[in-house]
Amino acid sequence: MTIPSAIEQSETSTKPSAETSFAERLDRLASVAVNVGLGLAPGQELVMTASTDAIPLARRITEQAYRAGASLVTTFYTDEEATLARFRYAPEESFERAPGWLFNGIAEAFRGGSARLAIAGADPALLANEDPQKVARANVANSKAYRPALEYITRHEINWTIVAAATPAWARRVFPNEPENIAVTKLWDAIFATTRIDVPDPVSNWREHDAQLRRRAALLNERRFATLHFRGPGTDLRVGLADDHLWMGGGTKAHNGLDCIPNMPTEEVFTTPHKDRVEGYVTSTKPLSYQGTLIENIAVRFEGGAITEARATQGETVLRRMIETDAGARRLGEVALVPNSSPIARSGLLFLNTLFDENAASHIALGQAYSTCIRGGDTLDSAQLAAKGANESLIHVDWMIGSGSIDLDGLHVDGTAEPLMRSGEWVG
Ligand code: ZN
Ligand code: ZN
Repeated sequence: MTIPSAIEQSETSTKPSAETSFAERLDRLASVAVNVGLGLAPGQELVMTASTDAIPLARRITEQAYRAGASLVTTFYTDEEATLARFRYAPEESFERAPGWLFNGIAEAFRGGSARLAIAGADPALLANEDPQKVARANVANSKAYRPALEYITRHEINWTIVAAATPAWARRVFPNEPENIAVTKLWDAIFATTRIDVPDPVSNWREHDAQLRRRAALLNERRFATLHFRGPGTDLRVGLADDHLWMGGGTKAHNGLDCIPNMPTEEVFTTPHKDRVEGYVTSTKPLSYQGTLIENIAVRFEGGAITEARATQGETVLRRMIETDAGARRLGEVALVPNSSPIARSGLLFLNTLFDENAASHIALGQAYSTCIRGGDTLDSAQLAAKGANESLIHVDWMIGSGSIDLDGLHVDGTAEPLMRSGEWVG
C-alpha cells in the first residue's frame, strides 16, 4: 500500500470507445475516486493535496465531492518549480524545517472527521540533481512534522485514497522519446486502463475487483503461514510473518465506519512481516524511484531481520542513506503479493511511481509496518506492536521483488511447505 506523502513532492480493460472523450474519462476517474476509493459520506469534509499540474482532475474531484454531499473541500496545491527554488536558494537552516503548523492543522481536520485524498503525479526525478544531504534532511524534518497527521492514515482512523494524474514532468520521464503532448496522452491512457476506468461500468467493476482481493486475503488468513519463502534468480528469502499478522487486500473499513479503497490502482494482498525473522538474500526486479533518484538492481542480505549487506548497480549511496534513516529503516514493514498477470505488469511500463509500480509485482517495504495488518493492532501501543514483530520507522519504502520467474511457498511452523505462486502466478 502507498500512503500519501505530507504534501505531494486488465483483464477487464478494453479500449475506450471513440465517443468516450477525455473529459468523460476524467469525470469517471473523479467519480470512482470519490464514490468508491474515498467512500465519501454526505456532510464529510475533504482535505485534498495536488500539484498545480493536476488542477483539471482536482477540479473534477472537487465537483464530484460536493455532488456526493461534501460539506467542505480544501485543497493544498504544490508547485514543483517552487520546491526546486528552495533546494537551490534557501539558506542551510531551511532543511531542518517543515510546516508543522500546517500539518497539525491537517491532523486537526482528521480528528474532526475529514477524509483525505491525494493526487499523485510528481516528477519522479525532480530532486535528482539537488544535494542529497539537503534532500535527506528536509525529508526527515517533513516526516517528523507530518507524523501526527500520518497516524490517522496508517491507523485507518479516517477514509482516504490516492489517485494519479498524468503531469507533463512525470509523462516525460515515463516516455522520454515522445513529444510532451504525446507522452501526456499515453500516460493518461495508461492511468485510465490500469485504474479500471475504460470499462462499461467502472463502479461495479471496481466492486468485483475489490471482492476478489478480499477473498484472496481471507484465504491467506485461514492458512496462518509462519513464513513466506521466495525463490528465483538472485533471490532466496524467508520472510517470517508477525505474530497475529493479518492479510489485507482491496478496501478497508476505516474506524470512522466508512469503506474506502486506499490506493487506485490496487492489485496487492499484503501483511506485516516479523521485524526480527527475515533471512536470506533478495534482488530487486524493477528500479526503485526514491527521492528523485533511480536505484537499480538492489541486492541485499538479511540476517535476524536486518539488512547486513546492501548493494545496487546505480543509486547505492542513496540506498545506504535510506537504510540509515533510523533503527527501523533496515528492517521490513510490509510484504505484498501481486501476480505477474496484473494489468500494470502487463502494461510493460515502468511508471516510476510506487502507486503503480508496487502493483506490478510482489514487493517488500523497508520501514514502518501497518498496525492494521496485526489482529487488533489498532488497540495496541507501539511496545505491544513491537512485541508481535511490527517494525517502526520514519520511512516506508516499497521495492519490487516479484517477476515471472519467482516461486513462492507458504511455510507452516513445522516447516511443511505449500506452493502459493509458481512462475509469478497464483497456484489455484
Ligand atoms: Zn507499502
Ligand atoms: Zn504494498
